[in-house]
Amino acid sequence: MNYPEDDDPVERSLDTLAIRAGTQRTAEGEHSEAIFPTSSFVFASAADAAARFSEQIPGNIYARFTNPTVDLFARRLAALERGQWGIATASGMSAVLASCLALLQQGDELVYSADIFGATVTLFAKYLPRYGIRTTAVSLTDLAAWQQAITPRTKLFYAETPSNPLTQVVDIRQLATLAHENGAKLIVDNCFCTPILQQPLTLGADLIIHSATKYLDGQGRCIGGAVVGDDPLIYKEIYGFLRTAGPTMSAFNAWVFLKGLETLPLRMRAHCAQAQQLAEWLQAQPAVKHVYYPGLLSHPQHALAKAQQRGFGGIVSFELADQTAAWTVIDAVRVFSITANLGDTRSTITHPATTTHGRLAQADRDKAGITHGLVRLSVGLEDLSDLQTDLMRGIKQL
Ligand SMILES: *Cc1c(COP(=O)(O)O)cnc(C)c1O
Repeated sequence: MNYPEDDDPVERSLDTLAIRAGTQRTAEGEHSEAIFPTSSFVFASAADAAARFSEQIPGNIYARFTNPTVDLFARRLAALERGQWGIATASGMSAVLASCLALLQQGDELVYSADIFGATVTLFAKYLPRYGIRTTAVSLTDLAAWQQAITPRTKLFYAETPSNPLTQVVDIRQLATLAHENGAKLIVDNCFCTPILQQPLTLGADLIIHSATKYLDGQGRCIGGAVVGDDPLIYKEIYGFLRTAGPTMSAFNAWVFLKGLETLPLRMRAHCAQAQQLAEWLQAQPAVKHVYYPGLLSHPQHALAKAQQRGFGGIVSFELADQTAAWTVIDAVRVFSITANLGDTRSTITHPATTTHGRLAQADRDKAGITHGLVRLSVGLEDLSDLQTDLMRGIKQL
């Protein structure tokens, strides 16, 4: 049966798409999305099975390939990113891995911004080279460095903007142009902004990576990821790799992420408003040497962030005198969670130099500007004054 909302006109706004896009009801007419916890699917006959396996007719075969709940999540996310297709993965890292292994081969080269998620750095710096893929790290905002790193074997550019933890912003359009002029594709990890604040495909990027674990869920419950893009050939490569290699998303997790997406626009606006106020308040504290937040006029790429993004996001970092000061503030909190996760309704506080970026060599950390006085916040949705009181307890001791 066709229900009236089954089609998704692209002109619908993000608020509507987040709740409605991709909806396909079963014959039961359920209002909330159905969950399909099944590992395989049955066929009407031997001929039906043969036709589905040979892809003469579309249809489910096995949940490592397709699952209706997982596919609905991928379709809805793709609609939000204004992409032609989406593929859900078991984690954000499996989205990165599947994209790289599907699109690169021995002898190919990948250029990436140094300031990216720690596990992605390890994948690029340690594991991919084992398989004959050369990887080069450059400074996110230094376009001349990206240009210099290009060789005839460069196939992929990989960037995260705003970066973690220093919230640097790159011009996606310029980076995409540079990649395309040199026969490479641009992958953007859009985890920090989500499609609500930034849609990299509309700015020229070829692929988007998501860790659904962060804002898409937004309530710290599940691990998951996704890849979104436009090119059908790239879809075929990544989907083919994924259904063969296996890091696909479970139906249970997909259902939780669907619930997360429903409130994503609302939460992102609230995260932005709250982070802006907290960043401005931190900037006024004498013990705070510097605040990193794209929404501040003092941010070197404030104008770019304003043009490229619909909001400045929920991640705020700030610099204190040294590690003792940073740890004093962290150890004094009672509302903030001391955890490396981010994108949650709960505010979190991290010391990047000794946790998320602890495995980097000192020289690389220095180059990236991650000092021992740096503290990173993921600003959640608790009451603002409770968060200020919580930080003030430690700041007063400095
Ligand atoms: C967490 C994160 C990832 C990895 O995602 P997982 O779901 O933990 O595998 C990738 N990129 C960014 C920016 C992240 O924050």
